[in-house]
Formats: sequence, C-alpha cells, structure tokens
Amino acid sequence: MISNYDEQNIQKLAQLLLKSEYPIAFTGAGISVASGIPSFRGEDGIWSKYDPNILELSNYYSHPQSCWKFIKEIFYDKLKGVKPNPGHYALTDLQKMGLIAAIFTQNIDNLHQASGSRDVYEFHGNTQYFVCRSCESKYSVVDINLDDEYPRCPDCRGLLKPDFIFFSEELPGDVLEKAYSDAKIADLIIVIGCSGEVYPANQIPNYVKQFGGKVVEINPHSSLYTKTISDFRIKGKSQDTLQELVATVKKMREMQKDEK
Ligand SMILES: [Zn+2]
Repeated sequence: MISNYDEQNIQKLAQLLLKSEYPIAFTGAGISVASGIPSFRGEDGIWSKYDPNILELSNYYSHPQSCWKFIKEIFYDKLKGVKPNPGHYALTDLQKMGLIAAIFTQNIDNLHQASGSRDVYEFHGNTQYFVCRSCESKYSVVDINLDDEYPRCPDCRGLLKPDFIFFSEELPGDVLEKAYSDAKIADLIIVIGCSGEVYPANQIPNYVKQFGGKVVEINPHSSLYTKTISDFRIKGKSQDTLQELVATVKKMREMQKDEK
C-alpha cells in the first residue's frame, strides 16, 4: 500500500529523475530486507548473536578454522538461495530506461547484479567471490568447497578470504574514487534503505548535496540524512515504492510522447 503522502513524493521523484542528467542510486541493507537478508546492527542483528571478532582480519588469518565455522554459517548457510526482490528489479528497470547512471551499494549480497543491474559499485565487496591470500587468485563461490575446515585455493591450497571487507580492512580505492567523482557530477542521488551510519561510504550523499545535487530518500525509518541533507523522504518499503516509481515514470513518459 502506498500512502497519499508517498504518492505525491513518488511523483516528485519521477519528475526529478526525468529531468536529471546524472542520477545515481545509493543502497544499503534496507533494500535487501525483503529478500530475507538479516540486518547486522540493532537488537536482533547478527552481531547480537555472534562475536564480530570473527571478521577481524588478523584473527581470521591466525585462526581461520574457528572463524570460518561462523562466517560460513552467517554468510553462506543462512543466505543460501536468497534472491533479488521487486525493489532490486525495479532499480534494474530504471537503469534499463536510462535513468540510473550507477548504483553504489554498501551491501555484499550480490543481489543488484543478480537482478540484472549493471554499473554496480560495491563499497564493502561481495560474498560471492573469494581471494587467495597466497597467490591472489580470485574465485567464484561455486568453484570452491565451503565444507572444508576453511576455504582453500583450488590452485595453491592457500587460505581463501571471502572478498568482502573485514573489520579493519580498507575499502576498495577504485570504488571510493568512482563514488567521489560521481558525487561531484550527480544532480540527483536516490538513497535507498541506508541508515547513514557506516563511514566512509555514508559520506557520498553528503558530497552530492555539497556539489549541488538533490538527495531523495526511500526509507521507512528516518536516517542520519533525513533531517540534515534530504530534500524529501518516501516512507514506504523500497520494494513497493520503487515499483510505483517505475510505473509513474512510464506514465509520465507516455504523456510527454502524447504531447509531442
Ligand atoms: Zn592460491
């Protein structure tokens, strides 16, 4: 169900999108909730049940076996078979209509790519790949044995690390660079399901604002952006509101065609 309040804001966002020259999307955990991905923070979050130390890089390297047991449970057993939800697909639709230049995400679930989105930039890596600590080869998850005491390189038998960012690990420089340069030219950023708490990725909407772009949020909960830099917020669930946004944009385009 879309509220009247949201309906009006979706119209506003559709108009902004249609006249925007370089709109980008910025996504966080909220867009994957409907796919069944549990959140990490908060009362029922993953870290209320597991020790975050398992994702401390030096700990993983020195005790891969004890860490892997839990990493596998959280990121591979629990998340096995998760699929994109209508929110991911709607974003892909907007991209196919030429209305999203790039998607920046803090998620590591690969669901944007799985829904067919292109130009996806991941601040925190991706669970679906592994990198060998010894020979630096990269593997897809389907090519390695997750049931070993810890994942090993099929080639050199070295320790594999899931290719997402562990604690105290640096963010990929190329993604940050692309995000900073896009933030300067983006005239619109749609911030979807982000609380805005995780530094430094959380700075991107601030940069867009600073360089004169509009910031529109889609989030049932208010975030650190809501009272600071957001131009407005759509309060419905992302899977509902993004589908409605696609329909609204299509309608507006049809009307524009008729007028010509
Ligand atoms: Zn190797």
